[in-house]
Amino acid sequence: MSENVSVENMKELISLSHKYGADPDYILAGGGNTSWKSEDIMVVKGSGAELGSITAEGFVFLDMDKLRVIRTTMYPRNREEREERALEDLMNSRLPGQNGRPSVESLLHAIIPDNYVVHTHPALVNGLTCSKNGKEMAIKLFSDNCIWIPLVDPGYILAKTVDDEMFKWTDSHDGKLPDYIFLANHGVFLWGNDSQTIDKKYRDLFSILKSVCSNTDAVKLDTEESVSDNFLKKTGHLAGSNGVALFTTGNEIRSVLESGESIINLQQSLSPDHIVYMGHTPLVYENLPEDQLLSSIEKDYRDFTKKWGKEPKSILILGKGFVSMGSSKKGAETARLLMLDAIRVIRITDTFGGPEFMSVEKVSFINTWEVEKYRAKLSENG
Ligand SMILES: [Zn+2]
Repeated sequence: MSENVSVENMKELISLSHKYGADPDYILAGGGNTSWKSEDIMVVKGSGAELGSITAEGFVFLDMDKLRVIRTTMYPRNREEREERALEDLMNSRLPGQNGRPSVESLLHAIIPDNYVVHTHPALVNGLTCSKNGKEMAIKLFSDNCIWIPLVDPGYILAKTVDDEMFKWTDSHDGKLPDYIFLANHGVFLWGNDSQTIDKKYRDLFSILKSVCSNTDAVKLDTEESVSDNFLKKTGHLAGSNGVALFTTGNEIRSVLESGESIINLQQSLSPDHIVYMGHTPLVYENLPEDQLLSSIEKDYRDFTKKWGKEPKSILILGKGFVSMGSSKKGAETARLLMLDAIRVIRITDTFGGPEFMSVEKVSFINTWEVEKYRAKLSENG
């Protein structure tokens, strides 16, 4: 650990990370990140670490001066070159001896002046950020005390957009900071100089959103439908020799999988996390006998992999339930969590004018983005 961060600050950062990271209402899988900063250094979650169980070793120490230089650097207009150069500069902002890979969202953390930043992707908040009327509703519900960031490319462009919007906001509010930054199709950033401030902001955020939504609960599961072990074994093997497939069902799931509109919704992407962990679109089947299903899945799995350069992670069986796949148990479980999250988020968007999905162009950017490939790979391990 660096001598530049006190034991108390590090302890508080880890305890904030555990508190929000271990709560599935805030964070799923490797999503979300936290940081602590002084004038000189920033301690930020490393890519691939999970907040809920993170230790001091899971954080990366960055030089604030170098991060400030990135904010004013002119990068190439070409998307690939720009992201590659910005990522290189981010990696070079690590303090000597730091080998971890800083979260891709580190630049956003660096923009916020307060000591602690906790960024999460809660289903409740994404009901707002993934909705048609999200922006107007955010401004109305939080009395203009927030910034809304439209869907832009993640990485450098997202950080740059937040930097510009933050400057405009503080400039027109006597230098004051807003309480929240809402990122369309992504999540929320909030901050404070101590954990009490952060806890209070999350409490207020959740209670305001819950006060206008009718049902924000997690999707309930049951066992009224099932598939055979043989079916799961064969489907799992498509994802590799240690591949795993899991079947999930419940009342709400079955009714979602009976409605044409809901099925079309589930074939689109709400956020980068959904693309990375459950795949940008599922395979979809009528509720046929298992042998027929299996032969269709085997063929479609190969075609999908050929077409998209990556394997499918989710299968919808209409009116019955869904199957989540991964090359490991953890990969399949994560795909399952994100599908359940998608169903919940789409339900919550009802309050805000219905879901607003990512464009095909934005989805394909995530599908090919080097950083996301790294994140998808890590999610399969363990
Ligand atoms: Zn995020």
